[in-house]
Amino acid sequence: MWIRSFADVIAENKEYLTELDSAIGDADHGINMNRGFQAVLAKLPAFENQDIGSIAKNVGMVLISTVGGASGPLYGTFFMQVSKETTGKLELTLSDWVAALESAVNGVMLRGKANPGDKTMLDSLIPALNALKESNARGASVAEALSASEKAAEQGMLATTSWVAKKGRASYLGERSAGTQDPGATSSYLLLKTASQIWGNSG
Ligand code: ADP
Ligand code: MG
Repeated sequence: MWIRSFADVIAENKEYLTELDSAIGDADHGINMNRGFQAVLAKLPAFENQDIGSIAKNVGMVLISTVGGASGPLYGTFFMQVSKETTGKLELTLSDWVAALESAVNGVMLRGKANPGDKTMLDSLIPALNALKESNARGASVAEALSASEKAAEQGMLATTSWVAKKGRASYLGERSAGTQDPGATSSYLLLKTASQIWGNSG
């Protein structure tokens, strides 16, 4: 089940994400994300047999109510927006995926008012979306598209290292925020990588 895989990858990287946040934030990103996904796991039996839209909606609501920090409402919005595009669906085509990720990215942008290059989760999400769209437009397989999307997210995440943060807590550091990879861009990359590993094999 994809939610369990997401929760596992966050749990495995809890210390790493927190360490990145300790350099340019308040040392809680891994803790926040893990708290949220463990709460999702605890509630999973109540909704895991529903359609993808309902599952995503539940995940979003649990993240909003349990994560706190900047990332809780933003990841909550992400999953709520995914749910809008996946209501009633039991599996997703590549085009469904593109629509869901596009809606999610737009939701995060509206909610957090960050732009590309501000050193946030959007800096892995936006390149991932663009790669997914391009792959879809050229008729790539699901596996190819998800792999391209994962690689683009990875490059975006790595690029945040040298940047100065313009949004969120890290921006309080000004120039001193350069030199550390953004924690949120890292958690987004990990989730996209997990998505590629799960769904790339079946496509
Ligand atoms: P907090 O900063 O409140 O402690 P977290 O540590 O859980 O929350 O999350 C920090 C991450 O949230 C950052 O690394 C960044 O990627 C992301 N973030 C912060 N502000 C924004 C924003 N306005 N838009 C998008 N992402 C943001
Ligand atoms: Mg933090």
